[in-house]
Amino acid sequence: MMNYGVNDLGYYGDFGGAYIPEMLYPNIEELRQQYLDITSDEAFVAEFNQLMKDYVGRPSPLYRAKRFSEKYGANIFFKREDLNHTGSHKINNAIGQILLAIKLGKKRIIAETGAGQHGVATATVCALKGIECVVYMGEIDMERQAPNVARMKMLGATVIPATSGSKTLKDATNEAMRDWINNPVDTHYIIGSVVGPYPYPDMVARFQSIISEETKKQLLEQTGKELPDYAMACVGGGSNAMGMFYHFLDDESVKLIAVEAAGKGVDTGHSAATTMLGREGILHGSRTILMQTDDGQVVEPYSISAGLDYPGIGPQHAHLYKINRAQYVSITDDEALQAGLLCCQLEGIIPAIETAHALAYLDKMKFNTDDNVVICLSGRGDKDLTTYINHFGF
Ligand SMILES: *Cc1c(COP(=O)(O)O)cnc(C)c1O
Repeated sequence: MMNYGVNDLGYYGDFGGAYIPEMLYPNIEELRQQYLDITSDEAFVAEFNQLMKDYVGRPSPLYRAKRFSEKYGANIFFKREDLNHTGSHKINNAIGQILLAIKLGKKRIIAETGAGQHGVATATVCALKGIECVVYMGEIDMERQAPNVARMKMLGATVIPATSGSKTLKDATNEAMRDWINNPVDTHYIIGSVVGPYPYPDMVARFQSIISEETKKQLLEQTGKELPDYAMACVGGGSNAMGMFYHFLDDESVKLIAVEAAGKGVDTGHSAATTMLGREGILHGSRTILMQTDDGQVVEPYSISAGLDYPGIGPQHAHLYKINRAQYVSITDDEALQAGLLCCQLEGIIPAIETAHALAYLDKMKFNTDDNVVICLSGRGDKDLTTYINHFGF
């Protein structure tokens, strides 16, 4: 059987690894040597599970979306990560990594954020544990996402603007890496997706795998079968998708569908459809697929959803794409916004625009009436109200 997980050297097939400056080697090596031992320790697991239950509000419901099911002629289930504390799946990973950082004896946390969701999740867990928190955020994103900047500050974090390059997520990531190089001993860097040098992609996937672990049990209870016919999610870096795919990877009957952001259209020059536009290369410490020019400069991505506005995908996704285990597709801004509105009107749920990309792809699929389809409802749309309002003119 194909191996979909990471090997001892930190690779998924041709992708992964740890391409890092010398100065970061001790940090990454410490993590690599300890993350599995720490996260499988009984006391760690007990605290993680307790916080997931009492603080995050897990298990998140698996909701059979009745009117969506009628519209698309299949059993459509939403895995409700939008109901988590702080409004998305990102808290699962933030909780896991703060507990790990404490076990490693770290006194200071840094993070990067695009829309601010990961920054808010990180600031939240730092407040919970009384640990100093510094979040790097592109200067432009700070203007676009002012409410999340205020949230992070209220939670006690310091938000530092990234003023280089395009002043967005990739620049914030570069700044965070630079900080880590300068503070290697006392600081842990909480990366927000299944990207970065090994062991991050595997570590984050494990923390998010609670999504498919719960889905399996809930599907069995509700349908008598623990495997769906389709598991779907949107992909920025790919953490909610990896969480949704994780426990289905070895079950080849489960079709995995990852939805990227096409932005204004794949061929418009304003897109973030990484698998369609990208090539193999190195981004943020791992070998993966990324959007780049012929001479290897990272291409500026574009999506209306800040969470999907990233020029790469995690290395495990690059592998699943290359070996055809998962299907990678893309949805435009307009299609996503329409699907987001449809979800409001048919199900009474305002989804994040990231999530709406996954919902929009239903329209392009053909189902059998007894198909069970699970979609990761990665986050709630409160943060996106202005974007919805500007588009639809409410
Ligand atoms: C950040 C975010 C995403 C994209 O990140 P992944 O790592 O690809 O999951 C998707 N949905 C929501 C709601 C987000 O906040």
